[in-house]
Amino acid sequence: DEVIRFEGVVKRYGRRQAPAVTDLTFSVRRGELVALVGPSGCGKSTILRMVNRLVEPTAGRVVVDGRDTGHVDVVTLRRGIGYVIQAAGLMPHRTVRHNVGTVPRLLGWDRDVTARRVDELLDLVGLDPATYGDRYPAQLSGGQQQRVGVARALAADPPVLLMDEPFGAVDPVVRDRLQTEFRRIQTDLRKTVLFVTHDLDEAVRIADRVAVFSSGGVLEQLADPQTLLSA
Ligand code: ADP
Ligand code: ADP
Repeated sequence: DEVIRFEGVVKRYGRRQAPAVTDLTFSVRRGELVALVGPSGCGKSTILRMVNRLVEPTAGRVVVDGRDTGHVDVVTLRRGIGYVIQAAGLMPHRTVRHNVGTVPRLLGWDRDVTARRVDELLDLVGLDPATYGDRYPAQLSGGQQQRVGVARALAADPPVLLMDEPFGAVDPVVRDRLQTEFRRIQTDLRKTVLFVTHDLDEAVRIADRVAVFSSGGVLEQLADPQTLLSA
C-alpha cells in the first residue's frame, strides 16, 4: 500500500547546474517513516519539496495516494500534507494557539472545534496549553518552538507528514528527547512520514527505513535501520 512514489524523478534547477536529484525511484508505504539521509546539499530537501510541490520535478512523476501530483490542485494536495521545517517557521507576531490553529482556520473549521483541537495538540506534543498557549514564539525555547511546529503540521490530521531537519536547530539533549517523543507519537498516529536529516544516528533511531543519498540526489541504499547499524 504505497502512499508516496517517486518514479524516475529528476530535478535540475538550471540548465548549467548538475542535477539536484538524479533518476530517483522509490516509494513509502502507508504508516511508514522513511528517513532521507546524506550530506548537506545532496538533494534531500528538494526531494521532500517535490511531494508538496514547493518544487516541480524536471522529469518523472511524484505520485501521492495514487495520483500524479502534477495533475492535482496544489491546495487540495497540501491539505493532506503536514510540513515541519527546521526553524519551526512560526508566525512571530501570533500566539502559539494562533499558529497551531492556522490550517483549521483556513479550512473554515468551527471556532470551538479549532480551539479544542489546538489544546489537544499542544498536550500531545508536551506543552501545557494553559502555560504556553498564549505565548509568542520568541517566548519559547527552540525545542518548544519545534514542538509547536509539529503540532501545527498535525492540526488538520493530514495523512502525510514531511519533516525537514525538524530537530536540527536544538541542542543534543533536547534533540534526543524530541526524537524519542516523536517516535512515541508516531507509533499512535501512524502517519506516512518522510523525514530529512544529515545525521545517520538520528535516521537510524527514528525511521522504519533509511534512504541514503549521495551528492546529486542519487539513492545509494534503502535499508532497514538494523542493517545500517550492523554494517
Ligand atoms: P539538502 O537538503 O540535501 O541539503 P538541497 O535539496 O537543499 O539539499 O539542495 C540540493 C542542490 O540543489 C544543492 O546543490 C543546492 O545548492 C541546489 N538548490 C537547492 N535549491 C535551489 C534553488 N531554489 N535554486 C537553485 N539551486 C538550488
Ligand atoms: P489574532 O491574530 O486573531 O488577533 P493572536 O493570537 O495572534 O490572534 O493575537 C492575540 C492578541 O494579541 C491580538 O489582540 C493581537 O492583536 C495581539 N498581538 C499580536 N501580536 C502581538 C505582539 N507581537 N505583541 C503584543 N500583542 C500582540
